[in-house]
Amino acid sequence: DHRYAVLGLGRNGSPAAIALAQMGASVQAWDDSEQARNGLLALIARQPTDIQNRLTLAPPETFDGFSALVLSPGIPHILPAPHPAAARARAAGIPVLSDAELLFQAVRKAGSKARFAGITGTNGKSTTTTLLAYILEQAGMPVAAGGNLGPAALSLPLLPDNGVYVLEMSSYMLERLESMHFDVACLLNLTPDHLDRHDGMSGYTEAKKQIFKGQTQNDLAVVGIEDNFCRAVIDELRTKNCNCITISGSPDEPQADIFADGKILRRKTEKLASAGPALPGSHNAQNAAAAWAMAEFLGVNPDVIRQCLSFFAGLPHRQKIVVQHQRVTFIDDSKATNADATARALDCYENLIWIAGGIAKEGGIDSLSSYFPRIRHAFLIGRDAEKLAETLRAHQVPFTVAGTLDKAVPAAFAEAKSSQTPVVLLSPACASFDQFSGFEARGLYFQQLAQALTNPSVSQP
Ligand code: ADP
Repeated sequence: DHRYAVLGLGRNGSPAAIALAQMGASVQAWDDSEQARNGLLALIARQPTDIQNRLTLAPPETFDGFSALVLSPGIPHILPAPHPAAARARAAGIPVLSDAELLFQAVRKAGSKARFAGITGTNGKSTTTTLLAYILEQAGMPVAAGGNLGPAALSLPLLPDNGVYVLEMSSYMLERLESMHFDVACLLNLTPDHLDRHDGMSGYTEAKKQIFKGQTQNDLAVVGIEDNFCRAVIDELRTKNCNCITISGSPDEPQADIFADGKILRRKTEKLASAGPALPGSHNAQNAAAAWAMAEFLGVNPDVIRQCLSFFAGLPHRQKIVVQHQRVTFIDDSKATNADATARALDCYENLIWIAGGIAKEGGIDSLSSYFPRIRHAFLIGRDAEKLAETLRAHQVPFTVAGTLDKAVPAAFAEAKSSQTPVVLLSPACASFDQFSGFEARGLYFQQLAQALTNPSVSQP
């Protein structure tokens, strides 16, 4: 009965196309890249014939008779530069939806009352999503976690009424919601990132705020209190009488409902829990506070939450210790793709040998200058190494333009060995796409190089 156009056949689009066909819809799917189209063709080949018959590969010319256009997160549909097909869909009055919206509709259509938890923010989304899902699982609830960090929303299974979907929501997914509402929604923080795609900070904030769309007093909004943009959102939610809990990872903000004093989470004078070794730094205390607020609201026993916070193993490429050798500690924080994320890592260590660079974000590393005294030497890599070098030069931070990780890691090790309690930190403050397929590949390569240096039996990658 329903007809969907799916545009963009990457990590989210292809599973969405298949899932929609499996639900009985007819689907016209397209991606300008042949490789992406072949990816979907391979998936289609594994489907039974009746489902194959519902899938066509063709570019969307007109949208007559379509229920919706499902647009991949990477394709812009609003200002400043909407994709032409998205513009045509909007002109034809066809809703542009994210796969999360379609998941919500499908779950409700199947009669399940499973609840939805949504997490967004500039940084900390994946950590908080994974942590919350872990807590709910340990509490024995049926849980499906995914969204922006994968797996794609529409490839998640149907959960029973007592289940909880935990979705990491990017701003692009949030712009494309219709009837979806979150029983518990969290906005961790807002700092400039992806501004190019959102026509500035106000567009970005507007998109992130959609996580609270449609919430009533029976729902819960959890919001970080540490930046002005979030504080404005809190004021707005309060004037609308929303049920709102504020959180902070910093002891300087005891006015937050839940705040952290080092690794200890508190509510007013009550000590709630302490965070374990995989959650270092005040930023992770913020993530832990958010997970606490959401898990408690969803009915998890505080003792279970407490245990989970101490046992949580953390996510790869987020300040993970790779190896320790000759007193040198190698830390992979490849996921730090913007200055704010890198600030969190620089804040945790002294005496740093810092590896940074790649494709710089707006503002570069200017905002990191208060941490520069902690840096003994920086090794710069990637396309914008020279741009970062300019900032370091202006602040008299010693640096070397190494160009690649192959050069930077051994040089950093040599430098580190001559220092007291040295740390070699990869925390690039930049995107990776100039030299790698993504932050995961960059982090893995760093790990291999570090391991090869410290263990001669491991060969160079
Ligand atoms: P996201 O999914 O939003 O990119 P991650 O949990 O993957 O967030 O963490 C990305 C990077 O941001 C990591 O390098 C980490 O050190 C940093 N980070 C994690 N949580 C926060 C937070 N609450 N505030 C600021 N930075 C954070």
